[in-house]
Amino acid sequence: MYKLHNAIDGKLVSSTSDRMAQIFNPATGEQIGELPLSTDAEMNKAVAIAKQAQIAWGNEPPAKRARIMFKFLELLNQNIGDLAREISREQGKTHDDALGECARGIEVVEYACGIPQMLKGEYSRNVGPGIDSYASRHPLGVVAGITPFNFPAMVPMWMYPMAIAAGNAFILKPSERDPSASMLAWELFKQAGLPDGIFNIVHGDKSAVDCILDHPDIKAVSFVGSTPIAEYVYTRGTAAGKRVQALGGAKNHMIIMPDADMEQAANALIGAGYGAAGERCMAISVAVPIGEETADKLVAALKPKVESLKIGPASDETTELGPVITKAHQEKVLGYIDEGVADGADLVVDGRGFSLQGYENGYFVGGTLFDNVTEDMSIYRDEIFGPVVCVVRKNSFEEAVDLIHGHEYANGTAIFTRDGDAARDFADKIEVGMVGINVPIPVPVAYHSFGGWKRSSFGSSGIYGPEAVQFYTRLKTVTARWPTGVKEGAVFTFPA
Ligand code: NAD
Repeated sequence: MYKLHNAIDGKLVSSTSDRMAQIFNPATGEQIGELPLSTDAEMNKAVAIAKQAQIAWGNEPPAKRARIMFKFLELLNQNIGDLAREISREQGKTHDDALGECARGIEVVEYACGIPQMLKGEYSRNVGPGIDSYASRHPLGVVAGITPFNFPAMVPMWMYPMAIAAGNAFILKPSERDPSASMLAWELFKQAGLPDGIFNIVHGDKSAVDCILDHPDIKAVSFVGSTPIAEYVYTRGTAAGKRVQALGGAKNHMIIMPDADMEQAANALIGAGYGAAGERCMAISVAVPIGEETADKLVAALKPKVESLKIGPASDETTELGPVITKAHQEKVLGYIDEGVADGADLVVDGRGFSLQGYENGYFVGGTLFDNVTEDMSIYRDEIFGPVVCVVRKNSFEEAVDLIHGHEYANGTAIFTRDGDAARDFADKIEVGMVGINVPIPVPVAYHSFGGWKRSSFGSSGIYGPEAVQFYTRLKTVTARWPTGVKEGAVFTFPA
């Protein structure tokens, strides 16, 4: 069993906290590690060190910071296999899926390597007689990130590479379920030559989060997690005067039009609904076929694919569907399946009662498919975050759009069709932050920004991409005139 430490000022530091959290292997249910739930004093110390270290880092030429990002990028690529293994061990997702997660996180580091270009300011000559004006972007100081369990490497990488490249110091409070991937990334960043105190990891739970939210020296907070906590983080953080971007939960719908290639749509739904055990904020959890014939065809195509999903531990290379994150979460997902049955939805494939020899205590839930789900059912309304897909039948494109608009979440959505007109109309009108056309999980690449709408995101900034540069910097505009340009005496009117 291993014990994790905080990473502060370039060193691994033992916590003095008497509160610990356990880390489990979700495939076996065994405890494999533990981490400290740090004290306020430890968080305060990390912030003080980061504040001091940031002064020099923020004044380094951006190209020098970029060189360290390039080295970090190289080390990440060299160690991607180890990173993926850390993820699978604690999170339970398959090795290939973990590799994919790392690759999407590393994309953000690639983007951050271009920071000198992104920090270039604006200059206007002769805004008045002999007067020039220029605007430059400045780091905020110390900023923090609070991250969820489902992407233990990628979601932190949505935050700290951009923040640090822009000249800030960063405090990461990773998920207490699977923090080891971030610890490895921290080591690699240090090896890349990052100065001590610029990237710090402080483990903890709600009390560490509250300490971050109230700390006067933390200027901005990036949060990704469930909607109730995102709303709480946004409210408390902004009340303390911070910039906050808080991304929350989701219930992503996929419309299947009658003209869609049914095999392509069904395969896309299997990957997007059951991949990573449905524990993705961009997972498709609701399929909306248009017309009864399309619905019957879709369910007929999905049923054998869901039934034959290969469920197992990440250590088995043939596994397609791994365990969910905790025993409590497994019970929650199973409880939703019970509720769906009680509410009268048709259970086409039942994922309850799955057991695997040698892994009887693992947190597995089999692939589950419901048909004839209606808007009033909890399996439709709530984010289940498990391998459960609901089919909601609608008679027209317009009804399907109304359905999506009626949901509180608006993270991602997709349409499967060959009709360019319907696809364009959908992309244009739908009130959702990220839209896929024949693409089931439309996560933007690193040089665009990621973010949902409505109760899937609080705050006005998307994460990574160009919006991250704005979020992690502030603009200063200087208006300058030199003595040779001064021709007049005192002027008492407002300059026109
Ligand atoms: P979570 O909200 O339980 O935890 C997220 C973070 O908040 C963790 O670091 C945790 O320690 C902290 N936290 C938990 N309870 C807290 C409390 N009461 N007060 C303060 N902090 C608290 O989320 P999770 O279960 O780790 O992750 C799954 C959720 O994250 C899902 O809802 C999923 O949709 C969402 N998610 C969203 C996105 C997105 O981009 N929108 C991406 C990934 C995950």
